[in-house]
Amino acid sequence: MPDIIADIAVNVPLKQLFTYRVPAALKDEVVVGCRVSVSFGRRSTIGVVVGVKKGQAEDLKDIKKVLDTQPLLTEGLLKLLRWAADYYCHPVGQVLRSALPADLGSEKSKTRIITEPCYCVTDANVVLRGTLQREIFSFLSQHEFAGLAVIREKFPSPYAILKRLVAMKAIAVEEREVIRDPFLNIKITDDKCLTLNDAQIKAVDSINTSITEKTFQGFLLHGVTGSGKTEVYLKTVQQCLEEGMQALILVPEISLTPQLVARFRSRFEKHGKQIAVLHSGLSAGARYDAWREILRQKIDIVIGARSAIFAPLENVGLIVVDEEHESSYKQGEGFRYNGRDLALVRAQQQNCPIILGSATPSFSSYYRSELGILKRLSLDQRAHAGELPDVEIIDLKEHPNDGEISNPLIEAIQQSLEKQEQVLLLLNRRGFSPFLLCTDCGESFHCPNCEITLTYHQSAGHLRCHYCDYTEPVPTSCNKCQGLNIAPEGAGTERLEQELGELFPSARIARMDRDTTGRKGAHQKIMDAMLSREIDILVGTQMIAKGHDFPGVSLVGVLGADSILNFPDFRSAERSFSLFTQVAGRAGRTGGGKVYIQSYNSDHYALICAAQHAYRDFYQQELPFRQELNYPPCGHLVNLIFSGNNNHQVRSAAQQFSSALQSIANGVEILGPSPCPLSRLRGKSRYQILLKSTERPLLRHCLNRLEDIGLKIPRQVQLHVDVDPLDML
Ligand code: ADP
Ligand code: ZN
Repeated sequence: MPDIIADIAVNVPLKQLFTYRVPAALKDEVVVGCRVSVSFGRRSTIGVVVGVKKGQAEDLKDIKKVLDTQPLLTEGLLKLLRWAADYYCHPVGQVLRSALPADLGSEKSKTRIITEPCYCVTDANVVLRGTLQREIFSFLSQHEFAGLAVIREKFPSPYAILKRLVAMKAIAVEEREVIRDPFLNIKITDDKCLTLNDAQIKAVDSINTSITEKTFQGFLLHGVTGSGKTEVYLKTVQQCLEEGMQALILVPEISLTPQLVARFRSRFEKHGKQIAVLHSGLSAGARYDAWREILRQKIDIVIGARSAIFAPLENVGLIVVDEEHESSYKQGEGFRYNGRDLALVRAQQQNCPIILGSATPSFSSYYRSELGILKRLSLDQRAHAGELPDVEIIDLKEHPNDGEISNPLIEAIQQSLEKQEQVLLLLNRRGFSPFLLCTDCGESFHCPNCEITLTYHQSAGHLRCHYCDYTEPVPTSCNKCQGLNIAPEGAGTERLEQELGELFPSARIARMDRDTTGRKGAHQKIMDAMLSREIDILVGTQMIAKGHDFPGVSLVGVLGADSILNFPDFRSAERSFSLFTQVAGRAGRTGGGKVYIQSYNSDHYALICAAQHAYRDFYQQELPFRQELNYPPCGHLVNLIFSGNNNHQVRSAAQQFSSALQSIANGVEILGPSPCPLSRLRGKSRYQILLKSTERPLLRHCLNRLEDIGLKIPRQVQLHVDVDPLDML
């Protein structure tokens, strides 16, 4: 009688599956999608069952233990993940691993259950004293059990009174399990009932037809900022739920898109629909809870960032990728997948439509809509009242200025402040200044681990590396010439904030960047202050360009445009156009907005097209560059990144690979090896080889043959394969 054997995706950095024997005692438990414990080499590790079959079990090791009573990954998801492992040339065991909640990574880890003191009213007739006592008691009466965290949100220090109330036997306290607020304090707002305009109706009808027919179709929803894309998502998701299916919504980052989450909650929770929000702020336990609820198919709508594409929904009827152009859909390390691209694959595998929405679609999505692969739906007008803002480019050659802000912009800010309107200023560089310079000898200060200057953070009082977080105290003299004249060069958001303070002493100024939003809830606080008009001028990095709807903002200024335009990457024009258009879209959401972009490159097509809100013009001017050099989307790229402590070793490994590739390449250009633009990062030397081809299969073939040759790299050198790279620093 043949034995039962199982194919296991073991969590090791190897591409193949491994076969194990299923002991008779575990016959019923070894099910596809469950985790098992197996021995691998001399150690024990975790794997996921991807197939069970009959076969010869001689020489095979036994599966030691089954860790789950139910599969954690659905069949559909397994199919997607195995496809992804193959496409992104990443070990299948690690791919499966990264789709599971972090807590399931090792055998021993147990999901932590969070408890906290919870209070409930026991005697409603007790005589109370003092306003605060009455307020807290009345708050508790409105809840069955109120956890301390919830109470503290309303009453910052309630302990003494709670203690007193317990002593009075008015309330009781007990330690109870709580699920941390899965919605990040994102509250339900009023749900406006809107009558769709013609463009919206057309889009919704088209998508709804695909939902009803359960057919795969990719839609590119190209709608200017404020054109009512979200309303299209809501209406189509509604259709999807009415058909008895589930919806999956991807957003670049939950904390930056709270308004979208709020609108989904407001629209659907009142109809008893269950929404799960997956975001990085969730504790491991809460994340695991959400995952299990999804796995039990109790959830109708999943909203989450990149990794939510792996949510184990079984019956997906619609996928939405909001702000599809965002680079945060691409995972930058480890398993370097692109959530947007995998969303397309998932939709195709599950036979459902997918909406890619953006005001500034990625170049490749627009290209595909031109080819007819994606069906383009356009919303060209803002949905209510406001026209798109008027954008003016300030030529810095004609307006030399002492500080960071040119005179026309200073005047415009002054006028906005007088009219009590809000101002948004973008400067995509945090810190006080990007480097300190010795004005005697020209020396600047570099990170000892990375090939990059240290950013001066004045308020924190140190120099910091923005790549590895290395910090050192602010130097008083130059390392090279011992000179004492050290000056900050260039400006970051911190310096801009200071300059604004001097120019507009009575204005209320705030800053939004990674330094001011590190703490939990800090980002929301700034947003709330903006909405309640407690801020006159908000300075920030690209964070301020994302998804917010600030009705009070009438003026937007863009500073430091040149460093974005001149970024050494073939996508710099696309990124600039996108960022400038997005941030400009924050102005005058209720009409009459004005935008100023300062630049020395005032005739750059990315700037001019952004100023005219002319996506198509931009596309047509950019296309020839991509075509000429076979850059995506006209060609395809794979980047091989070699890194290690020993520069010589890394370079020679990269050279060997490059020669081997040259000899097998057919229809594939092999560029390099060359040092990465960040040639040293976190103490490691880095080289890259870029593979480029107009035909994806040829690229694939080249990589496969390289594997066949079985070229070995020294153990001290790491090789990362980045398929469809976005960031090539
Ligand atoms: P986008 O996501 O395209 O930036 P939103 O969906 O946030 O745009 O819509 C912008 C604003 O327009 C919102 O305040 C929304 O309530 C409003 N809106 C959307 N559709 C309509 C409509 N058909 N009629 C009136 N107002 C609308
Ligand atoms: Zn560093």
